[in-house]
Amino acid sequence: MTILTCSATTCLYNENHLCSRGEIEVTGEQAKSPDETACGSFRERGSSASNSTGSSSGCGCEKIQIDCKAQECTYNSSCKCTAAAIDIAGQKAITSQDTKCGTFSCQC
Ligand code: SF4
Repeated sequence: MTILTCSATTCLYNENHLCSRGEIEVTGEQAKSPDETACGSFRERGSSASNSTGSSSGCGCEKIQIDCKAQECTYNSSCKCTAAAIDIAGQKAITSQDTKCGTFSCQC
């Protein structure tokens, strides 16, 4: 599993820069740069959607399962992230599009 740190502190699942969701999905099927990726599991704290969907384990877990659609990334193996550690960026994010995988490295 991958160690994840996340700067999207506006996310419901963010606990002291760790993620409490247990698993996340990174999007970016056609991504050639980090800006074209996003954390698809982002939910803004306090939004109506965050009250009714998803479940938080309640802990900020260092290691997390990552399903990743960014298949051009060096670390992507059959839609699983094989990096030892990644950083999700997204300070002041309001939607998932405001986040990105800062560790994305294109093999293109
Ligand atoms: S490092 Fe690459 S494979 Fe891992 S989550 Fe980020 S974009 Fe996906």
